Order: sequence, then structure tokens, then C-alpha cells
Amino acid sequence: MKPFLILIFMIFAAQSWANLHLAPPDFNIPEGRAVFVDFTDSHHHIVFDGKKRKAIATSTITFFNTKPGMPIFDLLETPSLVEIDGEAVGQKLINLPGGESEVRVVLKHLAPGVHTLKVVNEIKKNVRFTLFRNVKAGFWIRDLKSRMFWEQYLPVNLEYDQHARTMDIEFKGRKIHNQAVHANGKVERTSVNTWRIEYPAWYTVSAPYFHTLKVGSKPTVNFNVKSIDGRNVPFTIYTSFPWRVSTFTKEAIKVFHELESDYGPYPHDSLIAYGSGFGGMEHAGATQTSLGALDHEMLHFYFAKGVLPANGNAGWIDEAIARWRDDGYPTRYAPGVPANLAGRSIYARNTNSQAYAHGSHFLSYLDSMMQNVGGMKAFLRGYFQAYKYTLVTTDHFINNLEFFTGMSLRQMFIENVFTPTPEKTLEMHGDHAHPEMTEEMLEALL
Ligand SMILES: [Zn+2]
Repeated sequence: MKPFLILIFMIFAAQSWANLHLAPPDFNIPEGRAVFVDFTDSHHHIVFDGKKRKAIATSTITFFNTKPGMPIFDLLETPSLVEIDGEAVGQKLINLPGGESEVRVVLKHLAPGVHTLKVVNEIKKNVRFTLFRNVKAGFWIRDLKSRMFWEQYLPVNLEYDQHARTMDIEFKGRKIHNQAVHANGKVERTSVNTWRIEYPAWYTVSAPYFHTLKVGSKPTVNFNVKSIDGRNVPFTIYTSFPWRVSTFTKEAIKVFHELESDYGPYPHDSLIAYGSGFGGMEHAGATQTSLGALDHEMLHFYFAKGVLPANGNAGWIDEAIARWRDDGYPTRYAPGVPANLAGRSIYARNTNSQAYAHGSHFLSYLDSMMQNVGGMKAFLRGYFQAYKYTLVTTDHFINNLEFFTGMSLRQMFIENVFTPTPEKTLEMHGDHAHPEMTEEMLEALL
């Protein structure tokens, strides 16, 4: 892509965090019209009380709605208090149209404008208190099922929304809490037992990383790695198994350089890799992962958490790219088995697990048709650099690919990624990089 085009895209990107145009359609429920809104910032005050053995979050969210109606948000736990503009109101768990997933709606009809939502809830998932009132908490996410992003812990919006997010963390129950706080934002210890984390304004609900544990409970190394753009990027590597730290470190540095050479400067301010032994999930420049999936998750620092999917129907793109890299970027001359990766309900929030096999096969087929313009990797490099920190849809991907190649590709996408697989074939239950994990397994990662 030409430099002036990249500049235009970047100017557009800076203003594009108001993403209401990417929200699914509003809809009616018996109480009235439920409307999607745009969060502009959220503040979460989280108290981890080692004595009461409870974690309570008080969130204050500024949002605006452009249409009259009852604002939609999401939170897995039932909140103990909801207020709009200082007034206590009811809320309700409702189905998205077609039963695709669930969300919560505030039972108050609002005129268009700027409003404040306050929510109090207990955080029950992936929090543990030790006998000595130390805290273990990890806000893990998963993307192959709905409602497994940060709605597991805090009131949030759907994936289409990008906004600034501040967390004030307070530990209670000990005179001094020696907690390590790992987060992919600006982390500051504000007093003996309080920390503040400020996450970048371009983060979505699936981008932030937060893990706290007692200092020294897992072996940790901190060091800098020089980026091709001259920055010293701070790395934090910690693992469940002491002997794994150096192996993780070597692999992380190797893959960091590979990805910078293929796609350009690393798009995050720091890199966190938690070698948890199981599974793998990517956040923005942070991952909880097995050693075998570390490279896959790091690819997602560019595609998934550098360029971000706007919804569940866009989630296949980054898994297809990641798997294509896992396989060594093969070129294939047949498109493979079609699957409905991108044409599910407009309310879909999760990624279709067929994205890995079917999606990567389709990309490697497109690659064979793009050899005269440098192949799929050349396109992906430009696509990443033009759209990093912004949200993309499958339509956006097709349009840019057609622009880059000069070919009409839409029909081919319709036949290959908008078509249900004729028979159940591959990988309906997760992937080697993102295997399905039980609640107990996720909690064991703390
Ligand atoms: Zn993946």
C-alpha cells in the first residue's frame, strides 16, 4: 500500500474509536427498545478483600446513545446495584435476537445523549484467596464461546466498542500486600496496597490482560528487547514451572523478531507471556499460554489484538492467519471445504472453531492466486500497518483484498466462508492452540 494511503487510514483510525456503526441492530423486548451504546470510558474500582474472601467491583461507565431506548451492556454475574445518572434502576438478562447469546439491558428508557452507568458486582470467576489472605486473580478470556471476554468479571460492552479503561485495584486483609500486578496497560503502585492500571483507549473487551499473584510465587524475568523501530520493548515472562522460564524467553524473542520482520514494528508497548502450561489465549501484547502455542498467540498480537475483529463473524480471519503461519504459510491450489465462518447471525459474539482448518486452507488458496502481487503475506503486512488499533469485519477484509489484488473475490468468499460445511468435519471443539478448558482448569492457571 502506498504511504499516503496509510497516512489517510491512520488519520481515520484516530477518530474511529466511536464505533457505534459497527454495533449490531437495536431490537425490541417487551419493555421497549433495547439499544446498543458507545462507551467512552470506564473506571473500575476493585476491592480484593482477603478477610471477607470476596472481590467486589464498582464500575462507573460514561457512554452515549444516539437512539432513544434502554441501554445494553453485559456482565455474567447478576449486579447488586445498577444506577443511571445517579438513580438506582433495574436491569434484566435478555436474549439477543435468535437466541444467539445473552446480554443485560438497563430497564430505563433514555433520550439520546451522554449518560453515566454505575454497576456494583461481585467477581466470582478466577479469584482465589490464600490462607494468608494473599490474592490470586486472572481475568482470562476465551473466544470460541460467547460471554467469555471481560463480561465474566466486569460490566462491559460488546467487541465493537473501543474505549479508555482505568482499574483501581485495592487489596485488603493484610497490612502489606506484596502482590505482583501483570497488566498490558500503564501499571502504577499508588499506595502500599493499591494499584492503578490505565489501558489504552483502542482496547476492546477482549484486549486487556490482568493477573495478580503474590510476589515471588512464580519465577519471573524482566528484560528489554530492541524493536526494529528503535524502541526498547519491556518483556515480562513468568511461568508455572521454574525450568520453563528460559525456554519461554528464547522462544518469545525469536518469534518477536520473526513477526517484526514479516509484518513490521511490534504494535504494543510491552510484552507479557505467562507460561501457564495449558492452552493459550491472546490479549493485546500479553498471553497466557503453553510453550507450544506461544508463537501462535504472538501472531495474534498483530492479527486479533493489533488489528481487531469487530464481531464474531470477523474472528475467523485472525485464526486463519495464525494457523496458516503455524503450518509454515503453505500455498495451496484448491480452496478446501467450505464453512460458514463469516455469515452466522449478525449478533454472533464467538469465533467459529472451523476457522483454523477451513479458514487457513482458504487463505493458502488465495495466496496461490496472488503470487503476481507478492502473495497473501504481502497483503497482510500492508493490511496490518494500515489498520492496526482498529476494528475490522469480513467485508472490510474482502474489500481491501480486492483493492490490493485488483481481482473480484467476493463470490469466492461467499462460496467458501459464508457457506455451511456440508458435513461436520474439522475441529468443532477448539484447537491445539485454543483448546476447550473447564472452569476448574482455568482456575488452576491462577
Ligand atoms: Zn488463535
